Amino acid sequence: MAEEKNFMKNVDIETRCVQAGYRPKNGEPREVPIIQSTTFKYDTSADMAKLFDLEADGYFYSRLQNPTNDYVAAKIAALEGGTAAMLTSSGQAATFFAVFNIATAGDHVVASSSIYGGSFNLFNVTMRKMGVDFTFVSPDCTEEELNAAFKPNTKAVFGETIANPALTVLDFEKFARAAHAHGVPLIVDNTFATPINCRPFEHGADIVTHSTTKYMDGHGSCVGGAIVDSGNFDWMAHADKFPGLCTPDESYHGITYAEKFGKEGAFITKATSQLMRDFGSIQSPQNAYLLNIGLESLHCRMKQHCANGLGLAKFLSQHPKVEHVNYPSLPGDKYYDRAKKYLKDAQSCGVVSFTIRGGRADAEAFMKELKIFAIETHVADARSCCLHPASSTHRQMTEEELISCGISGNLIRMSCGLENTEDLIADVAQALDKI
Ligand SMILES: *Cc1c(COP(=O)(O)O)cnc(C)c1O
Repeated sequence: MAEEKNFMKNVDIETRCVQAGYRPKNGEPREVPIIQSTTFKYDTSADMAKLFDLEADGYFYSRLQNPTNDYVAAKIAALEGGTAAMLTSSGQAATFFAVFNIATAGDHVVASSSIYGGSFNLFNVTMRKMGVDFTFVSPDCTEEELNAAFKPNTKAVFGETIANPALTVLDFEKFARAAHAHGVPLIVDNTFATPINCRPFEHGADIVTHSTTKYMDGHGSCVGGAIVDSGNFDWMAHADKFPGLCTPDESYHGITYAEKFGKEGAFITKATSQLMRDFGSIQSPQNAYLLNIGLESLHCRMKQHCANGLGLAKFLSQHPKVEHVNYPSLPGDKYYDRAKKYLKDAQSCGVVSFTIRGGRADAEAFMKELKIFAIETHVADARSCCLHPASSTHRQMTEEELISCGISGNLIRMSCGLENTEDLIADVAQALDKI
């Protein structure tokens, strides 16, 4: 492991995409092996007892840990520049574990209101039922408004690098400063940017989450998630706020995670040994294997997704039938300055949203004419797709509710895949011509 860490420290992110996490020894398989086994064999009960006590590293049951998953998690940790990582069955499970690992009944979390709809529902409905309270703040709030959202029982701040679907860019400095001034970590969902375009730990984030279902897998083949720890947050310095990490865990023989595993390992060890043990949201080794194949080309693919996104955004911004375009990498976008500051070469992702002149019916008519972009409830894979939020993901909302979350009846979300840029533009052009 130390050897692996030294190797990875000296190579760039492209090399990490291809080779981090799994480094076979003499005669071992070159490709990440799929360890499709629920259980592992030991010679003595004493050997196994050491694993149960977290006294030794090893595997005993795939609900907790599996070698294939750990190889792939180690690659994602290397991409983000973190000290530890775990895979989960979905992005939703990653978001839930990352927050619930430190905020439980009676606690409070400050979150940006510009986050993925599934995260918003998880926080605002399901986790409230579990006794966790949330205050949502505008991504563009002032420092005073942000600080005013904290309470004595606040345990974390949550935001999204590039929000799905609003395409706002997180003001990392402002959110990290407020979190740290209040002695709590900043948790960031880095799904849309991926570590290729943003490394949140370099901008003050402490924990990163991913829906690996999107660009990391990149081929629409498996649902998954990941959590990465920067190893920077000093839990013991705020021990009164984080009893779960800083006092003995009676369900694990009195281990104090922050003491035994330090800043580098406490968060992920606790999430694995408590939350994964009890909730069981494990990623299947087969999916982790497919995810790894996706990660090997992530750096190549993100370039094309971004070139397609920018090409389409530029075309749309000059089209007379288009009212407004949201794309943070487009000069003049409301979030362009933040994109330049926090995203590598201001590159964001392949998702572009725009409002079409006219109403809901024009949006639907336009989409029906597309030949390359397919209508799907998905984003961020190799094939271009599009969605009309008002008649799909946000269908249950009234016109007023739609407006309050920035989604109008004429808004269309386009996810640019890996096809040729000019072909994508031509497809959109011919569909616009028909309406
Ligand atoms: C899709 C998505 C999620 C949820 O991930 P699943 O893998 O679908 O559970 C979380 N955050 C963002 C930004 C997403 O796009």
